[in-house]
Amino acid sequence: MAARDTAAVAVLPDAVNPCALSLNESPFPPLPAVRAAVRASLDSLNRYPEFLPHRLRSVIAGRLGVAADQVVIGEGATGVLMQVLHALTSPGDTLVMSTPTFDGYPILARMARLRPVTVPLDRHGHHDLDAMADAAVGARVVVVCRPHNPTGTVEQVSALERFLSRVPADTVVLLDEAYVEFLAPEHRVDAVDLVHRFGNVVVVRTFSKAYGLAGLRVGYGFCAPALGRALWAMQLPFGVSLPALVAVVASYEAENQLRQRIRTITAERRRLQMRLRAMGVYTTDAQANFVYLPGAAVRWSDAFDGSGLLVRRYDDGGVRITVGSRASTRAVIRTVAAAMR
Ligand code: PMP
Repeated sequence: MAARDTAAVAVLPDAVNPCALSLNESPFPPLPAVRAAVRASLDSLNRYPEFLPHRLRSVIAGRLGVAADQVVIGEGATGVLMQVLHALTSPGDTLVMSTPTFDGYPILARMARLRPVTVPLDRHGHHDLDAMADAAVGARVVVVCRPHNPTGTVEQVSALERFLSRVPADTVVLLDEAYVEFLAPEHRVDAVDLVHRFGNVVVVRTFSKAYGLAGLRVGYGFCAPALGRALWAMQLPFGVSLPALVAVVASYEAENQLRQRIRTITAERRRLQMRLRAMGVYTTDAQANFVYLPGAAVRWSDAFDGSGLLVRRYDDGGVRITVGSRASTRAVIRTVAAAMR
């Protein structure tokens, strides 16, 4: 039987489905060099990976220009976040987050038995950093996503620094940079410098988004060395697979091709935003690989019913739409145009 006819292969998702716009995945299948490296790793799958992911940690630390003991590795950013909560919180502690936010946060807060405190975004989809800094007093953890999910908004560097200097030193700040690679240079913050200056900040990143490796489940966090050692103590034995290790190394080697893909995605996002605004549709100032249409004026979630497009729907009727191929953009515009008629 050909491999593609087996039941095992039948459970795989379609790599290039233009309608799959609900999870902020990359529309591109893995780069040839990444596929080749992963394929080569399959021959060693009878062997365990390293007990603790020292090699991947030093590759990532070298890339960032930090010491190895400042880095931890997880099953996606989600795994890193859970590791941080495991290492640094006790049941009943408070976790402050904005609302709406990445769906994982309420789930992880529940799993770690934390008390969630939510702070509404402002009407343009930005964090209310003053209210979050107030709420951070007495809290164990406060989460800031930059860019934010679902709105894609980016807080000014000066506002972020002001916020960090207001948060008590014994409150951990999770700075979630899952989409950082999509940021234009003027929005970048020197995160390595931040963790140097603020010993309570953990920056979390992932290979799921710009690197297009969501199926491999690999992400990392970095922070000051003292905090890094506490997090490394919670590093799951044999927790990072061989394919994940080689895929990251191959991705770093294929940086130029990845950059080109990121440029394609951000150009497509700008095009989609321009088309939406030209149609009179309000959309937040999203800087990642998705756009967000709040539900206030129109119930966009209803408009996407029956469109065949999978988008993330919110209770208020808002939708978050991943930027995909040109065909995806056209299908989104058609659906929005039909709703406005
Ligand atoms: N943080 C944010 C803000 C996200 O949007 C996501 C994925 N949607 C994650 C973390 C987790 O991503 P992963 O676990 O795939 O790395």
